[in-house]
Amino acid sequence: MDTMHDTADISPDRKTVNREVLAGLPKVLIHDHLAGAPAQTPETLTAQVRDQLTELAADNVVYVELRISPELHTEGGLTLQEVVDCAVAGLDVPRIDARLILTAQRGRLVSEIAELAVRNHGRKVVGFDVAGPEVHSAGTDADAFRKLREAYVPFTMHSGPDGDIDSIAEAVQLGATRLSHAVALVDDFYIDTEGFEGVLPGRVSGWVRDRHLTLEFAPTLEVHLGAAEELGDHPLTLLQQLGFTCTVNTGNRTVAGSLTDQFVALADTFGYGPEEFFDLTVNAVQGAFLTEVERQDLLERVILPAYEAQDFEDDPSS
Ligand SMILES: [Zn+2]
Repeated sequence: MDTMHDTADISPDRKTVNREVLAGLPKVLIHDHLAGAPAQTPETLTAQVRDQLTELAADNVVYVELRISPELHTEGGLTLQEVVDCAVAGLDVPRIDARLILTAQRGRLVSEIAELAVRNHGRKVVGFDVAGPEVHSAGTDADAFRKLREAYVPFTMHSGPDGDIDSIAEAVQLGATRLSHAVALVDDFYIDTEGFEGVLPGRVSGWVRDRHLTLEFAPTLEVHLGAAEELGDHPLTLLQQLGFTCTVNTGNRTVAGSLTDQFVALADTFGYGPEEFFDLTVNAVQGAFLTEVERQDLLERVILPAYEAQDFEDDPSS
């Protein structure tokens, strides 16, 4: 198979972007939770999923892995399986390819939700996730993660923003191939004073970088949650410079707004232009819980042509 394109033919003279341009670019979102109050009936849950996807499609998100926490929707009498079925029924929204990640809350039903992910893997459920307070749960939930690995169901884990390097290490050792909000990676860095090579990753962060684990950042949300005082202090750019595989996401859209809002914030704060957004988008495609063929198709059929067709203005005010 051909190697995936990692560059778009973007003229270096055309580097600036404005909101309109960013809104028009096809975007890939691999960390977004279903918003709103827990649904009580099958119809409201399906409608909730459909409404959120319709909003995402309007923002030109062309592929999303939407996270739902099944146990939050069982109070109205739905079983965990019925929750999944109702959510799947809401995925059929035009102009967006949507899949589900099932999120378990730490310390609650991790095994049950993991088994639910195993049973539904392949029918729109692409992976598993654990969220909730950053307690180190390897001992209690190790069996659930073993079952996921044995069934080849990929998973990500919330490893921050209030987690430490040990929560990241735990996620890696359990077999997560993606890490959510792993801002504490920088705590594992050290300064090489002897060789004058600058900042270097330690053992855990070095593994994360060198094995290309996908980092799902949601910078606006992470700042909101106290991981950095302001966006300019967020470690995203440092991690990118050091070769980590970074993506940008909304996380919680109630707090963070749209993915276009995230891109605008990065353009305003860090001066990101088309090349940076293309790079982030390629990383999101590569990190998606899809097959290599599906990823290649998404990139070549949707992402690349749109970037190459876009006439990035020299002057964002024009
Ligand atoms: Zn999250």
